[in-house]
Amino acid sequence: MKIGVPIEIKNNENRVGMTPSGVFELTKRNHNVYIQKNAGFNSGFLDDDYIEAGATILDTIEEIYSVADMIVKVKEPIEPEYKLIKADQIVFTYFHFASSEVLTNAMIDSKAICIAYETVEDADGSLPLLIPMSEVAGRMSVQQGAKYLEKPIMGRGILLGGIPGVPPAKVLILGAGVVGLQAARMASGLGASVHILDINMKALRHVSDVMPNNVISEFSSEYNIRKHIVDSDLIIGGVLIKGARAPKLITRDMLKEMRPGTVMVDVAVDQGGCFETTKPTTHQDPTYIIDEVVHYSVANMPGAVPYTSTMGLTNVTLPYVIKLANDGWEKACKNSAALAKGLNIVKGEIVYKEIAEAFDMEM
Ligand code: NAD
Repeated sequence: MKIGVPIEIKNNENRVGMTPSGVFELTKRNHNVYIQKNAGFNSGFLDDDYIEAGATILDTIEEIYSVADMIVKVKEPIEPEYKLIKADQIVFTYFHFASSEVLTNAMIDSKAICIAYETVEDADGSLPLLIPMSEVAGRMSVQQGAKYLEKPIMGRGILLGGIPGVPPAKVLILGAGVVGLQAARMASGLGASVHILDINMKALRHVSDVMPNNVISEFSSEYNIRKHIVDSDLIIGGVLIKGARAPKLITRDMLKEMRPGTVMVDVAVDQGGCFETTKPTTHQDPTYIIDEVVHYSVANMPGAVPYTSTMGLTNVTLPYVIKLANDGWEKACKNSAALAKGLNIVKGEIVYKEIAEAFDMEM
């Protein structure tokens, strides 16, 4: 199969859909991989690395779309790409169709086969192609929190791990899913005193099984949250209720109970945020202050670390890319129930119930 990897043209997207290692795996199986010139540059991969792995470099995005049977990328196509996508072409990427009727209509019109990373689903209901991005955001939340706790950027001026003779900072984590666990791992590793809250007992049992002693698991309730916020230095929001907006666990009135310079990192911002005062920010201007509490709520945290994010994403997408390249989309989806769940729009028809429902369209 001919596989094309374009440059991501969405604003501030530095990841790329395939690494040289992915190219190597595909070309070794006799597939042809076409990479757009400089597509990997911002993730730390040079054209020469791709050429060495067996890829052909093409100058323009038009050439990539025109030659490829399958496009592998990161973000949903944006307007200039709509006209480049061909009938029967496989497009394997994040789409998030339910949030854009324009994109949905454009992909229906294209008659392409749109397989969305975010709906590929394992038998246990987990979403394997979303997990690495939550892992990145969870780990980054502590890194960012530690930075904004510094005094010159209005934080409390406390070192997360303390020093001998001086107590460490207290970190409160809401949600013990992927984000919460990774945040707890980072914060505890730095020596902070960590409290992690969830409503799912299975998740809390897991925390207590695998985390060191400086991570304490507790049931999530308004009472417990109010108890902890008064002396927490860093509060991380990582809750998710599948398919719904995040619950507002920290309300506006609670900010007055916190100490000046407390930092709140709302990773759940992409689902509306779990703090009432959350509004989405960008890497260019990541924080704002309300009632002397520093808010960090960047909606695309993994974008700041494209090297790690690209590797993490392509580690999990590559096995599916190989299946699609080897077998074609029909056989690959027949043989993999997880991949079949990724089918969203096929040759002009919506085949994923929630997308049809989102826009009151026919399936
Ligand atoms: P997850 O499903 O693995 O974990 C969510 C956890 O929240 C679950 O354990 C659930 O039981 C818990 N929860 C639900 N209600 C709760 C409550 N009232 N109190 C405490 N815990 C509660 O989800 P995840 O992969 O960790 O993702 C968390 C959020 O982070 C999602 O909204 C996701 O979209 C977002 N995210 C954001 C970025 C970013 O760049 N900002 C990147 C990746 C993920």
